[in-house]
Amino acid sequence: MQQNHLDALTKIVGAENIMTNMEDLYCYSYDATPGHSHMPDMVISPANTHEVSQILKIANEHKIPVYPRGSGTNLSAGCVPTKGGIVLLMTRLNKILEIDLENLVAVAEPGVIVADLNTAIASAGLIYPPDPGTVATATLGGTVGENAGGLRGLKYGVSKHYIMGLEVVLANGDVMNTGGKNVKDVSGYDMTKLFTGSEGTLCVITKIITKLVPAPEAKKAMMAIFKNLDNAGKAVSGIIAAKIIPATLEIMDNATIRTVEDYAKVGLPLDAEAVLLIEVDGNPIIVEKEAAKVMEVLKANHADSVQIAKNDAERDKLWAARRAALPALAKLRPTTYVEDATVPRNKVPDFLRAVSAAARKHNVTIGTFGHAGDGNMHPTIVCDIRDQAEMQRVQLAMDEMFKAAISLGGTLSGEHGIGLGKLPWMETQHGTVSMNAMKAIKRALDPNLILNPGKLVGEC
Ligand SMILES: Cc1cc2nc3c(=O)[nH]c(=O)nc-3n(C[C@H](O)[C@H](O)[C@H](O)COP(=O)(O)OP(=O)(O)OC[C@H]3O[C@@H](n4cnc5c(N)ncnc54)[C@H](O)[C@@H]3O)c2cc1C
Repeated sequence: MQQNHLDALTKIVGAENIMTNMEDLYCYSYDATPGHSHMPDMVISPANTHEVSQILKIANEHKIPVYPRGSGTNLSAGCVPTKGGIVLLMTRLNKILEIDLENLVAVAEPGVIVADLNTAIASAGLIYPPDPGTVATATLGGTVGENAGGLRGLKYGVSKHYIMGLEVVLANGDVMNTGGKNVKDVSGYDMTKLFTGSEGTLCVITKIITKLVPAPEAKKAMMAIFKNLDNAGKAVSGIIAAKIIPATLEIMDNATIRTVEDYAKVGLPLDAEAVLLIEVDGNPIIVEKEAAKVMEVLKANHADSVQIAKNDAERDKLWAARRAALPALAKLRPTTYVEDATVPRNKVPDFLRAVSAAARKHNVTIGTFGHAGDGNMHPTIVCDIRDQAEMQRVQLAMDEMFKAAISLGGTLSGEHGIGLGKLPWMETQHGTVSMNAMKAIKRALDPNLILNPGKLVGEC
C-alpha cells in the first residue's frame, strides 16, 4: 500500500486506530475457518459511519480491497483478506442505541456482542432469538453478515427474520438506509434482506434495527435414544406432523454419540444410531401439553428410551451431551471443519447415511450432529491439515457430501454462509442463470470489486 494512502486513512481514524506491524496483521490474517489465511496490508478500526464512509471513498478510488470484520468467528473464511488490502474492524461501533419497548425493536451498532443485546433486554422480558454457539463473542454485524442462526432456528428462524432495517455504507462511500421500524413494509426492493447474509460483499453495515420477541415463560427438554436411524427420522417428521414446532430439535449420529460418550461420559449407549434432543417452550400450560404429545410421538416411533427433564438441573444434564458434541469431535484431531449442509427435514436420515458412506469410502472421520428439525446438519470433519494425502481424501468426502445434500433438494449452507469454502459447489446448487444474476448485483453495487472480493459469488 502506498504511503499517501496510509496518510489519508490515518487522518480519518487517527494513528492509534490503524495497525500495520506484522504481529498485529498476523492476528487478522485468518478467522475461525481452518486452511485459509493471508496477510492484510493494514487493519483499520473506525469509530462511526462517517469514518467508514471516508475510508471506503479512498479504498474505492484506489481499488484497495476491504474486508469487514466483527469477531472473526465465521466458519467460511469470510474475513480472510485473500487479496491483501484493509481489514475493516467494526468492533468500536459497539453501542446499543435504542431499546424501543413500544415497538419491540432495538437499534444497535454492528460491533455489539449478541449476548450483550440479550442481557440488555432480559429485564424487559424480551429476547433477540438468533443464537449461534458463539453468542458470547460474535458481533451483531457478523451475525447479520452471515445470516446466522443457532439452536432455536426451527421455531425462531435465522437473523433475516429479525432484521427490520439497516444503515449501510456502499462501496463508493455513500450511506444508505433500508427498512425501519414498520412491521409491514413492502415499499421497493427488499434491500434489508439482500444485505442480510451478504457476507461483507455488498456493503458495510453500520446500524441494525432488530425485532425483539417476548421471552418464553416455560421450557421443557427431552432426550430420546434410537437404535434405528430411520425411526429417529420418522420421529422428527412425526413431531412436526403433530403440529408441534419445538424451539430445538437436535440430532447426533452414531459417530458423534461414541465420541461424546468417550469424552463426557454422559451415559449414551454406544450402539445407538441416533439421539434426539427436543425442547418445547412458551406458555406453561401449552408446554406441558406439547411435551406430552412429543413423548407420544417418540414412543410411537420406537424410541428405545426417552427421558424428560423435570427441572433446570435435569435439563442442563440432557443438554450436556449436545454441548459436548463439537468439543469432543474437535479433540480427536488437530483440524476441525464444521460444515452446515442442509436438507429438507424428511431427508435427514438419507443425508446422514450419505455422509457416513463418504467418510467410509475416503477413510476420513466425520461426526454429524445438528438441527434435525430444520434439516441443518453439521457434518464435522476432523483431520490433520498438515497431511496432504489426508486432505485430498477430505476434499473428496466433502465433494460427495455437498453433492448429496444438493441432490436431496438441500442447500450448501443453513447458517454459516458461503465465503470461500463452499464456492466450488455454488454453480451446482444455483445454476448459471442464478449465479450470473448474483454477480450482476455484486458488480452493480461494487463496480470496482473492493468489498470482500472473490467471496460468496466468486470472481466477477
Ligand atoms: C464454535 C463455533 C460455533 C458456531 N456456532 C454457530 C451456530 O450455531 N450458528 C451459526 O449461524 N453460526 C455459528 N458459528 C459461526 C459464527 O459464529 C457466526 O457466523 C457469527 O455470526 C460470526 O460473527 P462474527 O462477529 O464473528 O463475524 P465475522 O466472522 O467477523 O464476520 C462474518 C462475516 O460477516 C461480514 N461482516 C462482519 N461485520 C460486518 C459489517 N459490519 N458489515 C458487513 N459485513 C460484515 C464479514 O466480512 C464476514 O463475511 C459458529 C462458529 C464457531 C467457531
